[in-house]
Amino acid sequence: MQFTELGLAEPILKALAAKNYATPTPIQQKAIPVLLEGRDLCGIAQTGTGKTAAFALPSLDHFARNPKQTPLNGCRMLVLSPTRELAAQIAQSFRDYGRFLKLSVEVVFGGVPINRQIKALSRGVDIVVATPGRLLDLLDQRAFTIKDTEIFVLDEADQMMDMGFIHPLRRIAKLLPKERQNLFFSATMPKEIEALAAQFLNDPVKVSV
Ligand code: AMP
Repeated sequence: MQFTELGLAEPILKALAAKNYATPTPIQQKAIPVLLEGRDLCGIAQTGTGKTAAFALPSLDHFARNPKQTPLNGCRMLVLSPTRELAAQIAQSFRDYGRFLKLSVEVVFGGVPINRQIKALSRGVDIVVATPGRLLDLLDQRAFTIKDTEIFVLDEADQMMDMGFIHPLRRIAKLLPKERQNLFFSATMPKEIEALAAQFLNDPVKVSV
């Protein structure tokens, strides 16, 4: 199986070719067709399996095919990550794979001045990658809204729970619109994570690698 067989939009295939990626990894082979159909996904996958591209590529495909003005003070896609480092890496992946598309990507995390982030978000962005605490600060200040989110990704759910992000996650979930595509990734799926997944996902396809 090659990337060219998955039906991804041309600018995305061009970016993959530039990176010399020809063959999708197992999680990409399983997840991309499901996500291109617009279904929700629950993925059990560790870092290093290629899961970032598994959710980034079909999302970029959605934006390539459905161009829209970014919502004022809002975003079209929200990715939640437990750590700054991972958030920055994910944002970089979106920039890489989306380099031939005109999309805006912002990363939002704590420990740095919030004012710059408020300014960067004020005109609206296509894709926001955030850690839960700083995102909630921005939402509480009414500096940002997630009510227009079309695609929501919760990455490293088990690590989120370990880091005590359950309450921020519940509050964030309440501010998302009802109609949206949901992607949920975790390296492990004990009962409490499964319960969390059930709160976010709507009839998900389950994949594991
Ligand atoms: P991740 O699991 O998303 O952290 O990705 C692990 C690493 O594999 C990253 O450095 C990616 O850039 C790389 N990668 C992802 N998908 C592919 C692919 N299909 N072919 C080659 N490398 C890939």
